[in-house]
Amino acid sequence: MKFVFQSAPRPVDLAPEKWFDWTWQLRSSLKNQADYSTYFQLSTEELNAFAQGSEIFNIRSTPYYASLASKTDVMDPIRRILAPHEKELFDTKQSQLDPLGERKKSNHPVARIVHRYSDRVLFLITDICSVYCRYCTRKHFTGSDQAFIKQDEYAQAINYIKKATGIREVILSGGDPLTVSDAQLERVLTDLRNIDHVEIIRIGTRMPVVAPMRVTDELVKIMKKAKPVFLMTHFNHPRELTAEAAAAVEKFVDNGIPVMNQMVLLNGVNNHAAIVQALSRRLLFLRAKPYYMFQCDPSIGTDYLRTSIEDSLQIQKELWGHLSGLAMPNLSLDIPDGGGKAYYVPQFETEVSRASRKFTGWDGVQSEYINPDASQIIKPADCGLYIEEWNRLKNSKKITQEPLLNHDESL
Ligand code: SF4
Repeated sequence: MKFVFQSAPRPVDLAPEKWFDWTWQLRSSLKNQADYSTYFQLSTEELNAFAQGSEIFNIRSTPYYASLASKTDVMDPIRRILAPHEKELFDTKQSQLDPLGERKKSNHPVARIVHRYSDRVLFLITDICSVYCRYCTRKHFTGSDQAFIKQDEYAQAINYIKKATGIREVILSGGDPLTVSDAQLERVLTDLRNIDHVEIIRIGTRMPVVAPMRVTDELVKIMKKAKPVFLMTHFNHPRELTAEAAAAVEKFVDNGIPVMNQMVLLNGVNNHAAIVQALSRRLLFLRAKPYYMFQCDPSIGTDYLRTSIEDSLQIQKELWGHLSGLAMPNLSLDIPDGGGKAYYVPQFETEVSRASRKFTGWDGVQSEYINPDASQIIKPADCGLYIEEWNRLKNSKKITQEPLLNHDESL
């Protein structure tokens, strides 16, 4: 089936030049009760949330993203993402300011760098987002209006990456890295590309979802120059895939920038197999890989938006066998307190022995996989060519310890 993507509704009295200018979208963001009231009939629960002011996670939406949500229905999935709710103030189960453990000193060697995994770092170049998603996992950092990284912190961060020669991937995150100007982004990408050991750059962003007009020819040109750059989008619901968003995704792919999507399973938003398949198939049609289907982290104020692990496993099980491997996102959970990722796959094994394993497949087929004799298993003759590279990867975090002892700020 060929999918058709509808344009987002645009205010009739607004000049298209404004609507399609991403800087106008940011400048005209909805930030308070008065702004939200012009778009929505606010419920008592939403009004109560606005009344809490500083008690509640920062509030913001682009006019474009607000136009995708229902004006009257408080249960509308997109409205649940962008509008604050009084339930954010009443977590009863689990409520963590830093569920990924990013603030622990061991994971946070210098400002704006999170070094949790051995061969990759997160580089938080801004804390600003154009929409503050109510389920955000990084509420300890995001939306505190510090904006683009300060010069001295930037120099320290680049210096850390430069000296930590075990780092292979840098993931630009925030905040939303695509809220910074083209010139700022170009500087970051150029500085990273000039570091020999940085192989891959990823950019994690919601901008193609909440302000797809950000994806201009100039932006794509800058990213293309710094290749290989992967774009990690964050579509959660098929209604977010408007004609404008679809064009943005295709612009990246047409220019050789691979697009991978990371969705979060959210209560009353997308926690149904029918919605996940609809999102995944449309993304794949646009050549964006549905990559992760995350369990929502127990970040402060998210109890009402989280699903149970059982609910997520059920969704995964229903999808299995009906979605191809290309269309199927990986179900994954970040172990609270920074324990790293845990992956889930449906269990098909029914019996395990040294000689074989028995299975019942997704549609009930029962069969057995018989191992060859262990004595016949040999290693590839040329693996020696790659052993040094492999050992280096395994030890990359140790390599990154060295520069901390000899930290020079000469940038
Ligand atoms: S765009 Fe990402 S970082 Fe920003 S509020 Fe949403 S989830 Fe958090």
